[in-house]
Amino acid sequence: MTNNNISRYLRQTIFPGIGLEGQQKLLAARVVVVGCGATGTNIANHLARAGVGHLTVIDRDFIELNNLQRQLLFDEQDLAENLPKAAAAERKLRAINSEIEVRGIVSDVNAENVESLIAGATVVLDGTDNFETRYILNDACIKHNIPWIYTGAVATYGMSQTIIPGQTACLRCLFNEVPPPGTTATCDTAGVVGPVVAAIASVSATEAIKLIVGHGDLNQGIIHFDLWYNTFEQFEGNGPRPDCPACQQRNFEFLKQEKGGQIANLCGRNAVQLRVSGAGKLPLAEMADRLAAVSKITARNDYLLRFIVDGYEITLFADARAIIKGTEDERVARGLYAKYIGS
Ligand SMILES: [Zn+2]
Repeated sequence: MTNNNISRYLRQTIFPGIGLEGQQKLLAARVVVVGCGATGTNIANHLARAGVGHLTVIDRDFIELNNLQRQLLFDEQDLAENLPKAAAAERKLRAINSEIEVRGIVSDVNAENVESLIAGATVVLDGTDNFETRYILNDACIKHNIPWIYTGAVATYGMSQTIIPGQTACLRCLFNEVPPPGTTATCDTAGVVGPVVAAIASVSATEAIKLIVGHGDLNQGIIHFDLWYNTFEQFEGNGPRPDCPACQQRNFEFLKQEKGGQIANLCGRNAVQLRVSGAGKLPLAEMADRLAAVSKITARNDYLLRFIVDGYEITLFADARAIIKGTEDERVARGLYAKYIGS
């Protein structure tokens, strides 16, 4: 370690759980943060400052004004430059710590590219906003024996789960199927309070540090809190579920695209259609009530719900299919689906 490094990390190396030995492990570690929104920026911020030597952040979106309320790596200058989140995050993380290697990748993480994106990682952190990607990540990390940490935050509650292949339960052990579209709250429909995101991201970033340095008690189950009501819970895990398709049978259905999988195709001029297999029937009426607060509903009946949001027109059918007008970019369509429909 250089003298500069010794002073930079002094406050954590004098903590015996980390020490100089732990710092060297952090500097040698390769961490991939998938998704660079609210949780992802908070996690990446902590890990860059802590001296994770090789840090990769991946995100498919551009910065919007409403991101600045909680996505702490971004500022008004980034917004004025119309930067993709991954590029702005890379620039900011380098300014925070020029002694580590930072890579920002502008990409949609999917079943086809996930394995190459996480190759060689010491640990992967989930900074996504959707379950579709998390199940793909779960499959890929279990397959390649890479620990990964789930982080979720909506409204005023947060959840973190540390997944160590072969040791703890994985995402599919706990929730065998992806929650159907429209059944889970998203930050775009239920809102989210900035400091709640920072708190749960800190839990997950600390888990990553403990995992890398090899000290401290890892979360073996789920940590859940709601900062509006000050409830803090830790659910003890029972280890892997014996019949889990992913971590026990090693049948990676999401990687093989036998499960989940939004199939996108161009649909006329300036529109993308997304189909989700096996989603069942959507609760359209309930979703319309939720979406009315953040979008303009232009049509609703038993078969479809049409609304305008962010300048796009989205027609959502009861079978979870959606036609997104206003773009020919699949990534944009997937992003809108994750935000406003969920999963
Ligand atoms: Zn499992």
